[in-house]
Amino acid sequence: MKKIIIIAVIFAAIAAFFAFDLGSFLSLENIKASQADIAQWQADNTFIAALSFFAVYIAVTALSLPGAAVMTIAAGAFLGLFWGVIIVSFASTIGATLAFLMSRFVLRDSIQNKFAERLKLINQGIERDGAFYLFTLRLVPVFPFFLINILMGLTPIRTITFFLVSQVGMLAGTLVFVNAGTQLAQVDSLSGILSPSLLLSFALLGLFPWIAKKIIAILKQRKVYAKWNKPKQFDRNLIVIGGGAAGLVSSYIAAVVKAKVTLIEAHKMGGDCLNYGCVPSKALIKSAKVAKQMSTASHYGLQSVTPTFSFRNVMDRVHKIIAAIEPHDSVERYTELGVEVLQGYAKLVDPWTVEISLNDGTTKRLTARSIIIAAGAKPFVPPIPGLEEVGYLTSDTLWHEFAKLDDAPKRLVVLGGGPIGCELAQSFARLGSKVSQIEMAPRIMLREDPEVSDLTKASLEADGVRVLTEHKAIRLEKHGDSKILVVEFEGKEKHIEFDQLICAVGRVARLSGYGLEDIGVSTKNTVITDGYLQTLYPNIFAAGDVAGPFQFTHTAAHQAWYAAVNALFGQFKKFKVDYSVIPWATFTDPEVARVGLNEQDAQQQGIAYEVTRYGLDDLDRAIADGTDQGFVKVLTKPGKDTILGVTIVGAQAGDLLPEFVLAMKHGLGLNKILGTIHTYPTMSEANKYAAGEWKRAHAPQKILVWLEKYHNWRRG
Ligand SMILES: Cc1cc2nc3c(=O)[nH]c(=O)nc-3n(C[C@H](O)[C@H](O)[C@H](O)COP(=O)(O)OP(=O)(O)OC[C@H]3O[C@@H](n4cnc5c(N)ncnc54)[C@H](O)[C@@H]3O)c2cc1C
Repeated sequence: MKKIIIIAVIFAAIAAFFAFDLGSFLSLENIKASQADIAQWQADNTFIAALSFFAVYIAVTALSLPGAAVMTIAAGAFLGLFWGVIIVSFASTIGATLAFLMSRFVLRDSIQNKFAERLKLINQGIERDGAFYLFTLRLVPVFPFFLINILMGLTPIRTITFFLVSQVGMLAGTLVFVNAGTQLAQVDSLSGILSPSLLLSFALLGLFPWIAKKIIAILKQRKVYAKWNKPKQFDRNLIVIGGGAAGLVSSYIAAVVKAKVTLIEAHKMGGDCLNYGCVPSKALIKSAKVAKQMSTASHYGLQSVTPTFSFRNVMDRVHKIIAAIEPHDSVERYTELGVEVLQGYAKLVDPWTVEISLNDGTTKRLTARSIIIAAGAKPFVPPIPGLEEVGYLTSDTLWHEFAKLDDAPKRLVVLGGGPIGCELAQSFARLGSKVSQIEMAPRIMLREDPEVSDLTKASLEADGVRVLTEHKAIRLEKHGDSKILVVEFEGKEKHIEFDQLICAVGRVARLSGYGLEDIGVSTKNTVITDGYLQTLYPNIFAAGDVAGPFQFTHTAAHQAWYAAVNALFGQFKKFKVDYSVIPWATFTDPEVARVGLNEQDAQQQGIAYEVTRYGLDDLDRAIADGTDQGFVKVLTKPGKDTILGVTIVGAQAGDLLPEFVLAMKHGLGLNKILGTIHTYPTMSEANKYAAGEWKRAHAPQKILVWLEKYHNWRRG
C-alpha cells in the first residue's frame, strides 16, 4: 500500500510538471530573458531565493525531470561560483539520493527477484567495486545522471556510499556548469559548455580510480614477491603438484596446448578417486547390491537365497576394478599425452621453484612460470579420546585392511552420516556386517532436505544398519579383546561393542608439509584462492579438494581447466570459475542426486520457489524393475518454468540428473524438458513427468474454461 501511494505521488508530480509546462521555465532562453527580473527578486529576497532554488533543484533531480543542467548554469549566473557550486553540489546529491531511494523502494525487490540469477554477478561486482563504478559513471558522461540514480537504486550499493561518491563524482561537472553560468550571456547551448577536451579530461578522471586500483594491485603483487629472487628463465611453463583428478586434468590441458608441463605425484597416480574413493566405493556398492538382489530375489519371482561368498573375493574384485581403471591415469598414458610425470614428493621452495624428493631417493629442483597445487584432501580424524589406541580405519586404509579379511567384520561402526558414511554403512551391512552408524546431528545427509534424509535412513535401516542420530562419540575403550565406542545420547552414555570402526566424518584439505607454510601461501581449511583460483602468489594456483569449496572428482576436473588456462594464458585473459550449476550424487540405494537449490538452501537464502514433485511409484519402468522408491523434486521460480534446483532420490538418480544439469546450464525450462521425447519405458521419463506435473499445476484455467465452452458449442 505504501508503495502504491509513493508511486502515485511521484507520477502526480511528474504529470503536473508536464501538464503545467513547468519545463519551459527551465530553458536557457527563458532564464536569459528573465535574468534582470530574477536578479532583482533575488537581491530583495536573498535567503528565500537561495532556499527556493535549493528545494526546486532537489525536486527536479529527485523526480528525474529535465532541467537540472539549466538550473546549474542559473546557479552560476545568480549565486556566483562559490555559492552556486555549494548549493548545487548538495542539492544535486540530495536529489540524486532521493531518486536512488525511490527506485530502491519501488523497484529493487521485484527486479532482483525476477532476474536473480542474471543479477548475481552484477551484485557481486557492485558489492566489491560499487563505489568505483559509480564514480566512473558520474564522470564519464555517457549515461544520463537520472538513469544512474535509478539503476544504482536497484543494486546493493549502500546509500551512504552512493551519497558520498555522488557528491564527489559530480563536483567537477558542477564546477564547469556553474562557472559557465557566471558568464550566462556567452552561453548559447548546453552542449557547447563541454568541449571535447573537457569531456576527455572527465573521462580520464572517471577512469582514474581504476588505473589507481590496477597500480595498487601491481604494487601489492610486487610486495608479495619482494623477498624472492625470480628466476631469469624457467625450466617449465607449468608444474602440477598432485596426480589426482585436478592434477591429471590440468597437466593434460597444458600438454594439449603444447606447454612444457611436469606432473608430480608422491603416491599413486589417479589420487583418491581411483585408489581410495569413487572407484573402490562404487565397486563395493555393486557387489553389495548383487548380494541384496540375491537375498530379495523373491520380489522378482525367483527364490531368495542368502548369498554365500568370500569377503576376500569381494575385496579382491574391488582391487581388480582399480587395476582395470588404473591405465587411464597411468604414468605411461600421461607421458604419451605429453606430460612429464615425476614420481616423488614435491615441496615449494619459492613461488617458482619446486624441489622433488624422487621415489628413487634422488632430489630434483625445477622452476616454472606457474604452479598448480592439486594436493587433494585426506580423511579428517576427530580427536576422540581412545581412538588412536583402540584403532580405526578411514577411506585411505580400509580397502587395504579389509582385503586381508575372509569375512566382513561382524560388528562394524561407521562414524559419520554424510555421503561416504552412508555408502559404506549400507554396503557393508548388505555384505553381512552388523553396522552401527553414528551421527551427531539430528539426521544423516544433512546437506539434503529432511525428507531425503528420512528416505535414506529408512533404506539403510531396511538393510539392517542401526542409524543412530543425535549420538555423539565421546571415547573409545578397549577391554581385553573387546573394543567399545562410548556414545552420548540424550545426556546418557551408551556402549557399542565393535570389531572394526570406520571414521568417515569428513575430509580436510592437505595443507602442510609441502612448503605452503614456508612461502606463506594463505590457507584456512583450504588453500585460499580468488575467483581465478590464484593464491596469494598470482602464479600459484590451486584446484580440487585442496582448494574447495566442493570435494568431488568432477568439480576438481572443472577447476583444473580454469587453473590450467589461467596459469598458461592469464596474461591475456583470465576466466573466473563458474560454480553456478554443480551436480553431485550419493550412491546409496536408492541414490540421491542433486543440482542447484534444494528447499533448505532456498529457505536459508531467502529465495522464493515453487516445488513440483513426481513420485517414482507412478513410473512404469520403476514399477517393472521393482525400484519405485523415491521422487523427482524440482524447485522453480514462482510462476515460471525456470529450474532453480533438482533433487532426485531413486534408482539411477545420478544418471537421471544430467538432463536437469544441462537444462540449468543452458537456461532451458521445464517446458523444454516436457517437449522432449523420452524413450519408453525408461527411468528418464521421470524427468519428463515431473515437468508434466509442473505444467498441469500451471495450466491456464481461464482459457480451459473457454475451451470447454468452445467444445460444448462445437458438439451443438
Ligand atoms: C570413499 C570416497 C568416495 C568418494 N566418492 C566420490 C564420488 O562418488 N564422486 C565424486 O565426485 N567424488 C567422490 N569422492 C571424492 C573424490 O575422490 C575427490 O573429490 C577427488 O579425488 C579430488 O581430487 P583431487 O585431484 O583434488 O585430489 P586427490 O585425488 O586427493 O589427489 C591429490 C594427489 O596429490 C598427491 N599429493 C599430495 N601432496 C603431494 C606432494 N607434496 N607431492 C606430490 N604429490 C602430492 C596425493 O598423493 C594425491 O594422489 C569420494 C571420496 C572418498 C574418500
